[in-house]
Amino acid sequence: MMTEAEGIVLKIQDYKENDALAWLLTDTKIITVRIRGFQKSSSKLKSCAQCFSYVRWQIHSRSQGFSLLLHGTCIDFFPFHNNLLRQSLAFVLRDIILKIDTHPTYLNDLLSVFRSVVKPDQDFYFCVVWLLKEILINEGIQPYTDGCILCQRTDHLQVLSKAQGGFLCSDCNRKKKTDTKEELIKIYSIFHAREKDIDLCKERFQFLLRDVIYWCEWFEYYAQIHLKSLDFVKQIMSINSLA
Ligand SMILES: [Zn+2]
Repeated sequence: MMTEAEGIVLKIQDYKENDALAWLLTDTKIITVRIRGFQKSSSKLKSCAQCFSYVRWQIHSRSQGFSLLLHGTCIDFFPFHNNLLRQSLAFVLRDIILKIDTHPTYLNDLLSVFRSVVKPDQDFYFCVVWLLKEILINEGIQPYTDGCILCQRTDHLQVLSKAQGGFLCSDCNRKKKTDTKEELIKIYSIFHAREKDIDLCKERFQFLLRDVIYWCEWFEYYAQIHLKSLDFVKQIMSINSLA
């Protein structure tokens, strides 16, 4: 059966002697297809199957074995190669998405990240944080932000605790670390924001690389999944800080 699918190529991996397997994120699911002859330099399917490009594919679905890629068009390509750090973060997001159930918003959210790759830090990091918070909510591992996670009081909130999984008030906070009020409002707002609030959030709060790292680590902690790609991001960060 012939089908058509549109989405982001998440991963390409050599398969058998000449072929490759490719993972495509669509708005409903992740499709795995086999690309015959992909490893040969003469392959006509190379241009429509580049990692992190937005493509439209004609696929031959088979009841047994992998579906086959027949034809494809590259609709959009994103210049990640100019920025190693952002490219590495794309790999982190890719690794997370490959490990969880797909949700209809992920394709658009990831596209927003990719489209902002040429934009200033604030825009790029905001899009990454937005996707991460959607993932945490859908996975049911978002922080508790409606009050203190231990005593439920809603005043004197002092810190977000990763170990406890939410806000802590001044009485329940046993550690010295505190967050600023602005930081707590930012966290509350992003986890309560809907799609219509995106512009408001983006204007009101500043999102930085450390926010991205924090929510990736939160995912690692609560999903119990180690992300090697995140280790690489941290390596780049430490090299950059030495430079
Ligand atoms: Zn408390």
